[in-house]
Amino acid sequence: MEIVSPGRFIRIEEAILDPGEVSRLVDPGEPLLSAVDIVKRFDGVTAVNRVSFDVGAGEVFCLVGPNGAGKTTTLRIIAGLIEPDEGYVVFEGRRQPWGPGVRRLIAYIPEDAGVYRNLTGFEYLEIMARLYLGEMWGDAVRRAAEISGLGVRLRDRIGGYSKGMKRRLLLAGALMINPRLLILDEPTAGLDVTHATAMRRMILDYVRGSVATAVVSSHNMLEVSYMCDRVSLINRGVIVESGPPKELLKRYRVENLEEVFVRVTGGGL
Ligand code: ATP
Repeated sequence: MEIVSPGRFIRIEEAILDPGEVSRLVDPGEPLLSAVDIVKRFDGVTAVNRVSFDVGAGEVFCLVGPNGAGKTTTLRIIAGLIEPDEGYVVFEGRRQPWGPGVRRLIAYIPEDAGVYRNLTGFEYLEIMARLYLGEMWGDAVRRAAEISGLGVRLRDRIGGYSKGMKRRLLLAGALMINPRLLILDEPTAGLDVTHATAMRRMILDYVRGSVATAVVSSHNMLEVSYMCDRVSLINRGVIVESGPPKELLKRYRVENLEEVFVRVTGGGL
């Protein structure tokens, strides 16, 4: 990806797009990703109810809410894994469903993503790099190894990794292929402070100042305060409030997003 006119236009690298999908100029003032009035029902239950949001390049957007609020369903729709019953998603100016050229720009890590226990960390990264990057795989593996921060432990089998190490390996593997859209479902759930901090740092270092964007779900309203540029609070499938975390705290005159959530939902889950 190349900045052709600083601060104004970005050009999508032709090599990673299908013929017919190349050389489009994108104005970074425009949202990179838009979810428009998404509705998803399961057996009569409305899991996601008219959810809309825009995310720009270089932004980390967080969807925050309690268990069962509709976060995972929304992310799966954004990732193109399930179709909404109503509404639509636009990425890079293109509406779903996307062809392989656009899908290659998207990395999605589900909450319960697994890694191959019998491979070493290095072997996992190498397989992923060869799969996605062909001849460029060597440099990418070195970069991913560094990003992961796992050091010599990359020579060990993944079966012996802690949950935090596995999550860092998965994220490094995803970042290695230079996604334009990173979708992360509860990336720090169940991790200790060290691994959670490392994960947040990896996400921020990748997205900030870049032409990529991250959509992150979390039920931890405290952590998103310092990771996200903008946040939408979701409850029972409905976005109940949105904005930059600091603005929300100011608007409701409270100390943290949990208090904002309680105020807008009346405390009911
Ligand atoms: P959590 O934080 O617990 O992961 P969430 O905010 O990600 O929750 P979702 O997993 O999106 O919430 O679920 C939203 C609602 O949709 C829940 O009531 C859930 O039971 C329901 N749901 C999600 N997927 C399905 C499915 N495949 N079939 C039926 N119901 C589903």
